[in-house]
Amino acid sequence: MNVLVINSGSSSIKYQLLDMTTERVMCSGAVERIGEAQGTLTHKIAPGTEGEDKITLTQPIPDHEEGMHLIIGLITDAERGVVKSLDEIEAVGHRIVQGGDLFDRSCLVDDAVVEGLTKLIPLGPVHNPGHLAGIRVSRHLFPKVPQVTVFDTVFHQTMPPRAYMYALPYELYEELKVRRYGFHGTSHSYVSKEAARFLGKSVDEVNLITVHLGNGSSMCAVQNGKSVDTSMGLTPLEGLIMGTRCGDADLAIYPLIGAAKGMSIEEINDLTNKQSGFKGICGKNDMRDIHAAVAKGDGRAKLALDMFGYRNRKYIGSYLAVLGRVDAIVFTAGIGENDPVARELSVRGLEHMGIKLDHDRNLAPTRGARDISSADSTVRVLVIPTNEELEIARQTVGVLRAS
Ligand code: ADP
Repeated sequence: MNVLVINSGSSSIKYQLLDMTTERVMCSGAVERIGEAQGTLTHKIAPGTEGEDKITLTQPIPDHEEGMHLIIGLITDAERGVVKSLDEIEAVGHRIVQGGDLFDRSCLVDDAVVEGLTKLIPLGPVHNPGHLAGIRVSRHLFPKVPQVTVFDTVFHQTMPPRAYMYALPYELYEELKVRRYGFHGTSHSYVSKEAARFLGKSVDEVNLITVHLGNGSSMCAVQNGKSVDTSMGLTPLEGLIMGTRCGDADLAIYPLIGAAKGMSIEEINDLTNKQSGFKGICGKNDMRDIHAAVAKGDGRAKLALDMFGYRNRKYIGSYLAVLGRVDAIVFTAGIGENDPVARELSVRGLEHMGIKLDHDRNLAPTRGARDISSADSTVRVLVIPTNEELEIARQTVGVLRAS
């Protein structure tokens, strides 16, 4: 079965076509700058293999419909296409960031699902309108193909109220659904299953702390394979220190800077989401640039790294308390998979809690799933590459089989 995975944003459509018999990526790419004077499309055929081939286009792409037309044209191109016709695409899986508490599983798209996603726009104003545009165009262009929505929030729907409620007036929860939802669920779910497999256990018997460190970062306490707490909240702003997001911060900061600097709520939202985190502390949001700056003696970059490690250790410590027994700490995503310094900083000083890294294993430039803890560590420390597109495609197949 060939599954097209779509991640449609407000001005971009990222996609991957997977052959789910072998779980091979046939092609992948991204349309970007939709609606701007010039848009771009980058299309990779057989990415990551010896036969990888790349096509790039630059032209105005006025809307999502035009973007999808271009993608379909390349996928089915007579010479370089990976399928002969659209009939060879048997399902479309849509990545959805905010499913609120309306969705507790991946589901087949129908009018009620579209209505639900529309209702959730106030809780996902940045992402859900772009997802809806992708679904609308995709239903129009693939009218006979089943479409499935896979949500970043669903994995965390198993959190108990004590973990997802804010201690704000209860009416805010009742009236506006103000609560913690958590994100990156597709990644936390994928690496939990892969980690269980690596440990030779069934996923419903493992307790894990999954640590997704990328541009956006979050941690999850996984008990018997289910999320019981996670660091992101109502939006992906809460929790760890990220590339441009501040993570946990006292809410009283907002009225203070609003009054002192004459900033609007929108400007403060932009400040905390796009001008903070590593970027706010040291002017750089990419971890590789931060390491380069630290090597040159940049004190602010060192502070950013120090704060990042400290916040990560605090969360790991609190999730150890939440879970009691922990089988493994699982690092994933751009920083988690590639950065031994960030991993070491995140568990430094936790040896007395049974967490011991093996220095050489942590530094080894190995790729793929691996154990980087020392033999006498009572908690395993693993690196498991995430693959959100594959998880979306797997869940899409799962929904179709069950329907
Ligand atoms: P996104 O949240 O956009 O999916 P990624 O998971 O791709 O982000 O992670 C991006 C982050 O990973 C960036 O901060 C980048 O610097 C970092 N990163 C990627 N490769 C390395 C590396 N080899 N060493 C350190 N950091 C890396």
